[in-house]
Amino acid sequence: MFLANRENFKSFILRYKIFRDVAWRFVAGETLEEAIRAVREANSHGLRGTLDLLGENSGSREDARNASREVFQMLDTIRQDGVDCNVSVKLTQLGLDLDNEFCYQNLREIVHHARSLGNFIRVDMEGSAYTQRTLDIVLRLRGEFENVGAVIQAYLYRSEKDLRDLLAARVRIRLCKGAYLEPESVAFKMKTDTDANFVKLMKLLLDSGIYHGIGTHDPKMIAATKRCATERSIPPSGFEFQMLYGVRRDLQIRLAREGYNMRVYIPYGRAWFPYFMRRLAERPANLFFILRNLFRD
Ligand SMILES: Cc1cc2nc3c(=O)[nH]c(=O)nc-3n(C[C@H](O)[C@H](O)[C@H](O)COP(=O)(O)OP(=O)(O)OC[C@H]3O[C@@H](n4cnc5c(N)ncnc54)[C@H](O)[C@@H]3O)c2cc1C
Repeated sequence: MFLANRENFKSFILRYKIFRDVAWRFVAGETLEEAIRAVREANSHGLRGTLDLLGENSGSREDARNASREVFQMLDTIRQDGVDCNVSVKLTQLGLDLDNEFCYQNLREIVHHARSLGNFIRVDMEGSAYTQRTLDIVLRLRGEFENVGAVIQAYLYRSEKDLRDLLAARVRIRLCKGAYLEPESVAFKMKTDTDANFVKLMKLLLDSGIYHGIGTHDPKMIAATKRCATERSIPPSGFEFQMLYGVRRDLQIRLAREGYNMRVYIPYGRAWFPYFMRRLAERPANLFFILRNLFRD
């Protein structure tokens, strides 16, 4: 995403406290301890968690190994603390830019360790340059492990085929709209087209009989999912809604109270900048809020 990659822009905004304050609405903190606190808080409202160590595009094997080590620690801490939480990872953080096989082995070790602890690893989906390699790695691992899942982005034209391939291998899927700036050659530009595809893909997921995640804050997508589940007599226990930490918390709690499974994606870590920029880009109102307060800082 344009803003997320601009180093100058980053150093400019980090000078202003208001940016950091708003970032902490979407990011649970910089340490695992803070993140676990956020998970515990979510659990106390009947919400499950998925923890994400922020960071993308590791530039060296050492960085990728360090990220893997932290994910191991995350899994151990989740187990020790008895919180209801799984883990989401990004393959570029685990070395996808460096070497496919190296990245695969890193992820394999994580999934293997998660299985020994009864936990689940969700592989986030990044920009379209990584889609095929990410799916290949997940499908390869799925041959060996059940506790690994993928993400499908409704804005990509290719997603229906990818989703069908994943379903054929009985992979658990998180459906989302997609958060990266993609060219018209690969992704729908109109929100209405992405939304229509989201509904179509959501129906395929619910019809599959596999436990999937519907990742959206959009009331229209949520209503369509509820309607579809009711029409097909799929109980609320047959799938879960997922939302981002700090976004529509009211709706998260309401859905949990209505009896739906609700999981909150809880990111933490020092590399929060690109994630934060994607959240701002999705919702210009957040940016306007910051700009309004900038000069009071
Ligand atoms: C659990 C989870 C995991 C995700 N994983 C991935 C992934 O692996 N790869 C990927 O590309 N994308 C991922 N995303 C992001 C997703 O693709 C969308 O960019 C994001 O969820 C916004 O889309 P939406 O469905 O909420 O609908 P939108 O149409 O964008 O928004 C609907 C409503 O939600 C609220 N809202 C949405 N975003 C914000 C925000 N930033 N701040 C405040 N309010 C907001 C607003 O009320 C808005 O009107 C994930 C999203 C979720 C919920």
